Amino acid sequence: MNERIYPTPRLLMGPGPSDVSPRVLAAMSRPLVGHLDPEFLSLMNRIQDQLRKVFQTSNQLTIAVSGTGSAGMEAAVVNFVEPGYRTLVGANGVFGQRLAEEMRRSGAECTVVEAPFGEPLDIEAMRKAAAECRPQVIAVVQAETSTGVLQPIEPIREICDEHDALLLVDAVTSLGGHPVEIDKRRIDICYSGTQKCLSCPPGLAPLTVSEAALERLKSRKTPCQSWYLDLKLVMNYWGENRAYHHTAPISMNFALYESLAIILDEGLEARFTRHRKNHLALVSGIEAMGLKMHVAPLYRLWTLNTVAIPEGIDDLKVRKQLLSEYNLEIGGGLGALAGKVWRVGLMGESSRARNVLFFLYALERCLAAQGYSCAAGSGVAAASAVLEGQ
Ligand SMILES: *Cc1c(COP(=O)(O)O)cnc(C)c1O
Repeated sequence: MNERIYPTPRLLMGPGPSDVSPRVLAAMSRPLVGHLDPEFLSLMNRIQDQLRKVFQTSNQLTIAVSGTGSAGMEAAVVNFVEPGYRTLVGANGVFGQRLAEEMRRSGAECTVVEAPFGEPLDIEAMRKAAAECRPQVIAVVQAETSTGVLQPIEPIREICDEHDALLLVDAVTSLGGHPVEIDKRRIDICYSGTQKCLSCPPGLAPLTVSEAALERLKSRKTPCQSWYLDLKLVMNYWGENRAYHHTAPISMNFALYESLAIILDEGLEARFTRHRKNHLALVSGIEAMGLKMHVAPLYRLWTLNTVAIPEGIDDLKVRKQLLSEYNLEIGGGLGALAGKVWRVGLMGESSRARNVLFFLYALERCLAAQGYSCAAGSGVAAASAVLEGQ
């Protein structure tokens, strides 16, 4: 007999996936319908409407790409970049670097402006690079999950305007946690993933495209290198033709519908406030324990917190103890920050006051096991003060 799968219930406070509501899990277990069933087609229309609300846009081309966040990234790049295109990527973390790699693989002449992991992009450096390479597309990551940095979008948009470049933004760890404001900030191409602040399992990548970007797509001279992610073809299925391209992941779309319904029921403003407040409580607790945040206050994400690992503490041992004794998952550092920070996610369903308090308690115990001392309960007390204070 094959054993059945019964994973231990975990509290997911890493860089994703985040906790998923029972409502979403239940939606995934509904009976399948065909991908051309009228009920499914009507569900797709409703998902598009929901996505427009969450992205804060009226863009017609707003869909859920099949695949995880990286499929969204790939669709955003391969459709709007042709061989020889001049592109500029701001890379202040692993995901910015991945975007640059995607650009190069698509045949773009890609200029990369780097910034230290933990800092936002240097706008003057971006402006100077743009003046030299005259980019047709500028790409940045709004929420760098590898570093915990929130990148201001407005100054990047200004540079785009100076060169008539399309603005491409990764919102994988911001959509549903921070305002993305596609129309207000005039973002041309933006993608996300279901498994971060949307609190849906990994498997779909919301994507939205402005009219200007759509024009560029239509005037492409070469076919998109990816058949699977070719938006001109995918659009025929999401649009009025309903032409078969690939079979939509039906159950994942059920899940996305339900998770977006939860978000819209809560309301975007209330959701942003919740994410901000729980983040501030966590920071207050971390600092009360004598630990330090890796990112300066002005640029901290509410959804992903990087905590500097104190001297003499064994990174892996702490994370293993959190998982085995508390069923609590956090992330380690990525790339240049490996071994230097913990990444604590407060995304979607995981962004709860009780999770902040439980994490601070558990972390204190794990640190104490390695001889790190701080006043007992100091983190929990400081976080409670913030949670009660507002
Ligand atoms: C997680 C993440 C991705 C990739 O998403 P996957 O679901 O892992 O494919 C891309 N960009 C950012 C900023 C991310 O956090």
